[in-house]
Amino acid sequence: MNLRPGGKQARLRDGWYWSNGIKISQKMNFDEDHPEFPNQPKGIKQVLVERGLWLPDLRMQCKSCEPEATQCCAKRILNLQDDFKEQKSLVQEVIEKAGHLCIFLPKFHCELNPIEFFWGAVKRYLREHCDYTFETLKDNLLTALASVDIKTIRRWEHRMICWIQAYYDGLDAKEAQFRVKEFSSKRYTSHRRIPETLARQFDG
Ligand SMILES: [Zn+2]
Repeated sequence: MNLRPGGKQARLRDGWYWSNGIKISQKMNFDEDHPEFPNQPKGIKQVLVERGLWLPDLRMQCKSCEPEATQCCAKRILNLQDDFKEQKSLVQEVIEKAGHLCIFLPKFHCELNPIEFFWGAVKRYLREHCDYTFETLKDNLLTALASVDIKTIRRWEHRMICWIQAYYDGLDAKEAQFRVKEFSSKRYTSHRRIPETLARQFDG
């Protein structure tokens, strides 16, 4: 979401808030007949103004909010609203209802997310089979997805487990990277290693 209305920003479903014990539904987009922003997203400021939560000179977002702060920036205020909090757990709910685990990775640790390597390989395939038309891109997408060998995917998973194990053992980023490198080059023979049972599971 942006602070101001309109423009390029996410279109959200209706929200809600409490006012004097009454649950009030709130549209996140302006109506069709709005003079300036017909059917456009309201933006954070307008949403907060309508809830009576806007403060003068409020900034959009802190560089990093103080952990306990509740009114430091527009984003923090909005994120603390019940409907926005509920929305986050809805993602989790849908995933878990489908029988999956919902695990949030720590921020800025893409090495723990094997799908990043998968996307990387898919994008490389698309680049190498590119004629700069959208049609070709669409045609190639499924082939690109299928082009990634299951063994490669398992290797990424295996390597990711190695990263986790390294952090778990208390290594810092540099040491962990060294160990993963050793591991990847098959020279990894430390006694502190991933249990064989787990390794087999990923090595197939
Ligand atoms: Zn803040």
